[in-house]
Amino acid sequence: MSVSPPHSYYHATRQVELSATTPLAGERTADVCIIGGGVTGCSAALHLAERGYRVVLLEAGEIGHGASGRSGGQILPGFGTEMPAIESVVGLDAARRLWAMSGEAVDLTQRLIATHDIPCDLRRGYVHAAVKPRHAHAMRAHAERMARVYGYTGERWLDPESLRDHVRTDAYRGGLFDAAGGHLHPLNYTLGLARAAQRAGATLYVRSPVIRVERGDVTRVMTASGCVRCDVVLVACNAYLDGLVPQLDGRIMRVSNYIIATEPLGDALAADILPSDPAVSDANFVLDYYRLSADRRLLYGGEVSYSGREPRGLDRRMQAKMVSLFPALAGTRIDYRWGGQVGITLNRAPDFGRLDETLYYAHGYSGHGMALAGLAGQLLAEAIDGNTGRFDDIAAIPHRRFPGGERLRVPLLALATTFYRLRDRW
Ligand SMILES: Cc1cc2nc3c(=O)[nH]c(=O)nc-3n(C[C@H](O)[C@H](O)[C@H](O)COP(=O)(O)OP(=O)(O)OC[C@H]3O[C@@H](n4cnc5c(N)ncnc54)[C@H](O)[C@@H]3O)c2cc1C
Repeated sequence: MSVSPPHSYYHATRQVELSATTPLAGERTADVCIIGGGVTGCSAALHLAERGYRVVLLEAGEIGHGASGRSGGQILPGFGTEMPAIESVVGLDAARRLWAMSGEAVDLTQRLIATHDIPCDLRRGYVHAAVKPRHAHAMRAHAERMARVYGYTGERWLDPESLRDHVRTDAYRGGLFDAAGGHLHPLNYTLGLARAAQRAGATLYVRSPVIRVERGDVTRVMTASGCVRCDVVLVACNAYLDGLVPQLDGRIMRVSNYIIATEPLGDALAADILPSDPAVSDANFVLDYYRLSADRRLLYGGEVSYSGREPRGLDRRMQAKMVSLFPALAGTRIDYRWGGQVGITLNRAPDFGRLDETLYYAHGYSGHGMALAGLAGQLLAEAIDGNTGRFDDIAAIPHRRFPGGERLRVPLLALATTFYRLRDRW
């Protein structure tokens, strides 16, 4: 895939080693076979193995090959869409339960890191930055409503001057600071979950792309060199699904997104641009997001592509945006660039469900999955174990397929994004 250069910054700073993992060869039997070794799949493997299930996980590449090992690493409460949109389709009571679960997802991330001693540089603090006056207005109204309707008081409005305690730039009209959010090294986090799953008894196979799922009296998950016979299949492929389960076609679309990493900036310059070391994203529809790494590089993400081909002039454009925020970074070397696939749904809410009692899926976090995918793994384990309530709360969010059929879906999505990108300029 053209958005998969061999070594991202995350690969270069990988710290977690797994017990030997090999491709699947021959036939295996499991209670649950998980397809996909990202946060969703690894968290599900861990939570199922802890409950005593025999678990086999099959990953097409290496663990963390997909979005989980490439992401911006921002850990955020909430969803890829605002709560009023969720309320409008599930009602306020259910929306309140969903909001609480999104907070639980952030807490769970922290707990998993602590319990399994995962070295992934977790930092707390998130800034949502207003680029335009209308963003500032909307954010203040949002924070007021979240406090009034959801009792959530974690978001604090900061005027442009106060914002400089966190992000030292003149570019923003203020922003919301949320101490619950934060950032981490996503590949080490994913590998840490995989290691914990192995220790709990799950068996992981890598370089084992699933080519077919045969369903009947017995379910058989087939790779080119082996097969897993199982009671339940859990599809955790997100944007990398690629037609494997035709019933799920059109429910999510994949969008490529990119990140650059500067050379190490040194402690003084790093503290000068991001004094409180937060994760930051701006309020544009096609948003930019950034944070410092543990070794004080700026990891700056943004830009999208629908074809999977890297847009021309990507480095130059991203660097220019970075320097326009922080002029002191002019001339800073870019050491790494990589991309990955984000799985988005039409309404930007996550899409969980089951085709029947033998096939479950959770995907479509719409750029908001680093924390939610960990919770998804736990909810999948609960549901398979017979406690379906919380999984079903998320599964109750209605989803429509992207319009346009197989041929027109991508051009229509690109057109819609062009509209929003133009609107970002107003
Ligand atoms: C560049 C980028 C930046 C992002 N930034 C953030 C962020 O800052 N904060 C945030 O919350 N979210 C972010 N996201 C989204 C977040 O990374 C995802 O929502 C989350 O990682 C999804 O995890 P997952 O396990 O469901 O999917 P993935 O991590 O994508 O894992 C799916 C796995 O399935 C495997 N697979 C697919 N098909 C098969 C098959 N046939 N057989 C076997 N294996 C298969 C793939 O190889 C892949 O490893 C970002 C995503 C990208 C790409």
